[in-house]
Amino acid sequence: MRIAAVVVAAGRGVRARGVGSGPKQYVALAGVPLLRRTLDALNSAGTISLLQVAIHANDSPDYERAVAGFTGPLLAPVSGGATRQASVLAGLEALAAHRPDGVLIHDAARPFVDSLLITDVIEALSRHDGAIPALAVADTLKRCDASGCISETVSRTGLWRAQTPQGFRFDQILAAHRAAAAAGQHDLTDDAAVAERVGLSVALVAGREHNRKLTTVEDFIVAERELSAPCLPDVRTGTGFDVHRFTEGDHVWLGGVRIAHSQRLEGHSDADVALHAITDALLGAIGDGDIGQHFPPSDAKWRGAASRIFLEDAARRVRALGGRIGNIDLTILCEVPKIGPHREAMRASIADMLAIEVGRVGVKATTTEGLGFTGRREGIAAMAAATVVMPGPL
Ligand code: MG
Repeated sequence: MRIAAVVVAAGRGVRARGVGSGPKQYVALAGVPLLRRTLDALNSAGTISLLQVAIHANDSPDYERAVAGFTGPLLAPVSGGATRQASVLAGLEALAAHRPDGVLIHDAARPFVDSLLITDVIEALSRHDGAIPALAVADTLKRCDASGCISETVSRTGLWRAQTPQGFRFDQILAAHRAAAAAGQHDLTDDAAVAERVGLSVALVAGREHNRKLTTVEDFIVAERELSAPCLPDVRTGTGFDVHRFTEGDHVWLGGVRIAHSQRLEGHSDADVALHAITDALLGAIGDGDIGQHFPPSDAKWRGAASRIFLEDAARRVRALGGRIGNIDLTILCEVPKIGPHREAMRASIADMLAIEVGRVGVKATTTEGLGFTGRREGIAAMAAATVVMPGPL
């Protein structure tokens, strides 16, 4: 699916008046205009191939300042209308010539949207006409009368707070917007309402509390404080250790590389002691048990298995949490075989299994000076450290 985005930035932001000067979408938040933060967030997802902003006709100079140096696929801005709904329609009309398959419609004032949420919306769009992020209402709801007193308590069952980006099939939402405008309806406050009006099915996906809309002066103060706070990346480390004994054979597997040798390593799988240590290091970094727990030696299924399977599974578990592998450092302890001639092949092999650059993989080797079981050439030991960078700050 080719996905475009319309960013609605034509509002006057009356509730935020008093924050900086001018409309809120151009106010600098920790030094960066709000609209620019939102565009950067959308662009960093890597899934949006066209960005169209609808702006107020008076805001061109502010807009140009906000997007200066932006390298995403940004089209020239269009002038929005008197209402949010009219501004979205203007953005959609401007995109029509590009014929995207899908479109995400997003508020300029939600700068904290993240790639995972964008992916969730696009993914749901493959099964529904539309999809929007939403959060269940947690507070008790009251209706109040003209005197400021409660007239009733409203059940919150089945009530959700709609966020953006709201995703739709492009042709369908453009037709729905045109139909609403043609019918003289101009006051719908989100695009799901425009879609509902013509009977499109719109699914809810899990919204995120942090994907909030900056509306009031207080919202800006809190966001500024958060963005200015020193921010530590959430880097985890894990360690792994493994030993396999020598037995009769003619080769060993180390780091996914087959090395001719006068013995082999004994084990249930291919006994690649190096990959086992790295697998445990990755699992340790995300607190997800160990290799024996996920691939029990008692399970005949893993007899003779290539240890690549174990390592790739650990990498998949890291990525499922949104984590990225920072680096791997492996040390092999043995007298024989010589590791040096195979070091680069092992680095390349491990990097390939983990889908990371070779520069993030270190392979070292040492003897133990003839001491202990490795010194007596009874087996090989391996130890590994891994770092994993998790999404968001610590
Ligand atoms: Mg092992």
